[in-house]
Amino acid sequence: MPFADGADISAAIPLSDLQGRNHIIKPDATARNLTGAINALIEKAGLRIVAQKRIRMTREQAETFYAVHKERSFFRELVEFMISGPVVVQVLEGENAVLKHREVMGATDPSKAADGTIRKLHAKSIGENSVHGSDAAETAAIEIAQFFSGNEIVG
Ligand code: ADP
Ligand code: MG
Repeated sequence: MPFADGADISAAIPLSDLQGRNHIIKPDATARNLTGAINALIEKAGLRIVAQKRIRMTREQAETFYAVHKERSFFRELVEFMISGPVVVQVLEGENAVLKHREVMGATDPSKAADGTIRKLHAKSIGENSVHGSDAAETAAIEIAQFFSGNEIVG
């Protein structure tokens, strides 16, 4: 037993070791009441939802969140979509979370997503594609910090 009874094990395991991931259930999915269906797929893929809240993003939050895409032709459309209804922002953890998360989400364009993925099953289009996932450890940390304070992530 590496930890004494009652020791705070979570404090000894940095989030990064479990590949903490930011995940967002987008407005097209919350509108269709798919939060539970999507969460079930995430859990079945071996990921843990260690923090979760339903919010309505402000325009400023959405623009900050997607700043990396601000020169893309679809940026305006993307921001309008992300503020069009509630979203569920989450932190996911697990061993090999990066790989598992990418696999369970599926390709950006649902017509190219593999069978059984969230986007194949639920996305409406390349824009309204039901979920966001952070794409690297550094961006995950920045995205998580935009929505959660440390004491809201309890493992
Ligand atoms: P992913 O979410 O798979 O990482 P990107 O980072 O390339 O995809 O794009 C971010 C988001 O921008 C996508 O999830 C989607 O909502 C939107 N998007 C991407 N490409 C297009 C497009 N061609 N037209 C409209 N929206 C798009
Ligand atoms: Mg991306």
